[in-house]
Amino acid sequence: MALSGLDIYKHLPKTNCKECGLATCLAFAMKVASGQAALEECPQLSDEGKSALGEASAPPQQLVKIGAGDKTIELGQETVLFRHEERFHHPTALAVRVSDELDDAAVEERCKEVAALQFERVGTTTMVDMLAVYNASGDAARFAAVAQLASKVSGKALALMSANAESLRAAGQALATERPLLWALDGSAEDGAAIEVAKELSLPLCLEATGFDAIVALAEKAREAGLKELMLSPGKVDAPAGIEFLTQSRRAAIMKKFRPLGYPIAMQALADDPMQAVVDACWYVVKYAGVVVVDITRPEQILAILCTRQDIYTNPQVPVQVEAGVHVIGEPGPDAPVLVTTNFALSYYSVESEVEASRVPGYILAIDTEGTSVLTAWAADKLTDQSIAQALAKSDLEAKVDHKKLVLPGLVAVLSGGVKEESGWDVQVGPKEASGLVSFLKTQWKP
Ligand code: SF4
Repeated sequence: MALSGLDIYKHLPKTNCKECGLATCLAFAMKVASGQAALEECPQLSDEGKSALGEASAPPQQLVKIGAGDKTIELGQETVLFRHEERFHHPTALAVRVSDELDDAAVEERCKEVAALQFERVGTTTMVDMLAVYNASGDAARFAAVAQLASKVSGKALALMSANAESLRAAGQALATERPLLWALDGSAEDGAAIEVAKELSLPLCLEATGFDAIVALAEKAREAGLKELMLSPGKVDAPAGIEFLTQSRRAAIMKKFRPLGYPIAMQALADDPMQAVVDACWYVVKYAGVVVVDITRPEQILAILCTRQDIYTNPQVPVQVEAGVHVIGEPGPDAPVLVTTNFALSYYSVESEVEASRVPGYILAIDTEGTSVLTAWAADKLTDQSIAQALAKSDLEAKVDHKKLVLPGLVAVLSGGVKEESGWDVQVGPKEASGLVSFLKTQWKP
C-alpha cells in the first residue's frame, strides 16, 4: 500500500538540513509520497529508515540519468498517465542515429548536422539531445572509435546501441565519464553479459526484447543483479505496437505499481518514409517515450517532433508567459508604432514575428494578464482600459515616441474609448488577428 507523507516523515531525520534540495523534511516526505522524489535523495536517512520505508515509498517509475555535467538528461520518474492530472516532468530525449559503418568523415558530417539542429520557439531553445551510435559493423573497436568521435564532434550525450556485449564494454569504457546509455539490442541482454558490463561500468542500461514477458524477465534479472538505472525497449515495432507497449507499460507502472515495468521506455522511429518516421516519433513523444531514436536530420522534420515535445511537456497549470512591459522590435524611431498585446507567450510571439516580418520597427507593450490571451484576458477582466493605462504609465514610452497613439488588438476594440479616457493616448484599432499586422503596419498605421 502506498505510504502517506506523514508515514514517511516519521522515519526521516527531521533536521531540515536541505541537502535534498527542499526546505524541510516534511516537504521532502510529501514529494516522496507523490512519487516525485526518491528516498535516496536524502543523504541523511538512516539504514533503519531505509528498511522501514523500503520499496513502498519508491516512485512508480525509476529516474534515469544519461550524460554528464551540463549534458545530463533526466528521464522517467513520471507520476501521472494524463498531462492534465498534474504535468509530465522529464521531456522525451530525441536522438539521431549514426552508424559505425560510416567512415570518419561521414560520421563527423552527420554529427555536425545534428549539432546544428536547434531552434528558437516561444522564447526557448529546443534541440536534438543525443546521438545514438549504432554498432552495425559488429566490430567492438570500430564501435568505440565512432562513439568517441561522435561525442567529441557533437558535444551531445550518447546512446550506444549494440547486440554485442563486448562492443558495449569497449565503447562504454572509452566514454565512461560521459555516462552514455548502453542499449542491448534484440534481447542480447538475456545471457547476462550486457547486464554485467553495465554493472561493472556503473552506466544506465536499456534492455530490448520482443513482448512483455521477455522484457519483464530481463528487467527482473537486471534488478536482481543490482542495476537501478534501467530503460526498456520493445525493439523495432510499428507505431500501433509501439503505442500499445508504451501505454500498457505506463499504466502498469503508475496504476498497478508494477516494478518490472517502472522504467522509462526507449523507442525507435526508423520508418523508410521520413514523414512516417516523423509521425511515429510524434506519437511516441505524446505517449510517454523517454527516448526516441530517428534517422532523419532535415530541420523541418526534426522541428515537428520538437514542437510536439514542447507542447506536451509544458506545465498545463502554468500558462507560458513572457515578461510584461515594453519590448523593442528593431530600431524604432520617434514615430514608431506602439502595439498592445498580452504577456501570453503565444499571443506575444505571434505579434512579435509579424512586426518583424513587416520591417516596421516598433514597440510592443505586453500587458500582465497572468499569461492569458487577448480575448480570455478581456473576458476575465485582466485586460482592461485601466490595466493598459497603468502599464503605459509605468513604461517610458512617452519619452521614446513623439506621438501618443496606441494600436489596440481588433478583438478588444471595445476598450478604445476607455483607454483614451484613462491614459490620454489616442487609439488606432489594429487587426483582429496578428496575421493582419504586416499589411496594417505598412498601409494603415499613422502616428
Ligand atoms: Fe530532511 Fe533529509 Fe532533506 Fe535533510 S536531506 S532536509 S534530513 S529530508
